[in-house]
Amino acid sequence: MSTQPRGAVPLHSQSEASANEAPAAALVRRAAALNDAFGKADAADRLSGIVSSAAGRLVFTTSFGLEDQVLTHLIAEAGLPVVFATLDTGRLFPEVYALWAQTEARYGIRIQPFYPRHDAVEGFVRDHGINGFYDTREARKACCDIRKVEPLGRALSGADIWITGLRADQSAARGGVVLAEADAGRGLIKVSPLLDWSRDRALTFAEAHRVPLNPLHGQGFVSIGCQPCTRAIEPGEPERAGRWWWEDDAAKECGLHVGPDGKLVRTKSQPAQVLA
Ligand code: SF4
Repeated sequence: MSTQPRGAVPLHSQSEASANEAPAAALVRRAAALNDAFGKADAADRLSGIVSSAAGRLVFTTSFGLEDQVLTHLIAEAGLPVVFATLDTGRLFPEVYALWAQTEARYGIRIQPFYPRHDAVEGFVRDHGINGFYDTREARKACCDIRKVEPLGRALSGADIWITGLRADQSAARGGVVLAEADAGRGLIKVSPLLDWSRDRALTFAEAHRVPLNPLHGQGFVSIGCQPCTRAIEPGEPERAGRWWWEDDAAKECGLHVGPDGKLVRTKSQPAQVLA
């Protein structure tokens, strides 16, 4: 149930902040206010409340997974002033590109692409080989930095709020995800409106609203990233077991939700889990 009427503007931010308040402290205060106001709201009301609270540009980064498609539906159907962005690593499944086009057509939106720097990709492939990310953990992280983390920085440049499709039950590392958290490194607030949704709930919503989905989900590909780094999972395996499956389970993140110090961004119940 909603705790705020849709479109309310309960939390405006920087104008209320003390002139002497440090930017990081102001972000923490704003995130806490969003959690208090919308922590128990439904996803649509969370989104509209978050939009109303924004002091600048809102960016939703989608990788066209199930949760991202649900959020795209909610944002587009409500006509919210949110920028859609995606990171094209150059190593995505063909099905992802098809879904990208299908999603734009279905909702009448344009999803802004962010590509890796060509000289960085050329240097990585020259030094490590075309699939050098399999060789060492350091090479894998370097590839993710080049193809994902650096483009994400450009996608979020100047943004006030970053909307993501994280769910708390996707993995142990994401267990402490909260609705809103301060990302002081990027100078914004990161929000996860589906944090308390289950995968089944997202699937039920998507089917009810005919949200376009990646057909690979039906073949055991639950969490879908780059093609060479994603495999289908077996029944009973954790959702993210198919990502970087050759590495230890404890640290399967690409860096997009990891702070500049290499740690998972601090959450309410899980203070700074180390992922390196
Ligand atoms: S997921 Fe694999 S191919 Fe994609 S950026 Fe990371 S290491 Fe490179």
